[in-house]
Amino acid sequence: MLPLFFTLITLPYAPNALEPVISQETIEYHYGKHLQTYVDNLNKLVAGTEFESMPLEQIVAKSQGAIFNNAGQILNHNLYFTQFQPAGAGDHSAISDSELMKAIVRDFGSFEAFQAEFEQKGTTLFGSGWVWLSADKDGKLIITQEPNANNPVTKGLKPLLTMDVWEHAYYIDYRNRRAAHLKALWQIINWQEINRRYTAK
Ligand code: MN
Repeated sequence: MLPLFFTLITLPYAPNALEPVISQETIEYHYGKHLQTYVDNLNKLVAGTEFESMPLEQIVAKSQGAIFNNAGQILNHNLYFTQFQPAGAGDHSAISDSELMKAIVRDFGSFEAFQAEFEQKGTTLFGSGWVWLSADKDGKLIITQEPNANNPVTKGLKPLLTMDVWEHAYYIDYRNRRAAHLKALWQIINWQEINRRYTAK
């Protein structure tokens, strides 16, 4: 038995709860197989190294190569899978008075302008990677494209919301239609959770 330094997160919803935006089959592959593999790989790689007892954010900030890739993908997917809720459970308008929504209007002009920039950056990211909404140390919001396993913590930013544009995130349900997948994801974002991340100290 290998020692378990990192474990697979528990999903805060049933595997079919995000249908039809994300199918149970995609959850079974994306969460059950892809994310599990990153966890298994990292546990093998960190054994006997300084990284075995480090939080993921610190590993991502300090490591390179295979350890960085697997730790980065775990951090990315943990934030990704815990930002969803079933469609219809409440959209951004339910928290229009929140600090997050006020900052979105302040920094992008409107919620719709923010969505348009986010979708555009997700659609045009070449190859595999992630589009992120993050906050800088002053609380200003920024959208970045991160290649492969990268996370905005490497730029000193606080990651808030993300869309995974690796093909494994959408190919079962949307085939090559990445833009359609990104547009559909707005239906299942848990904005209370994104606001909690924004206001967390
Ligand atoms: Mn993924």
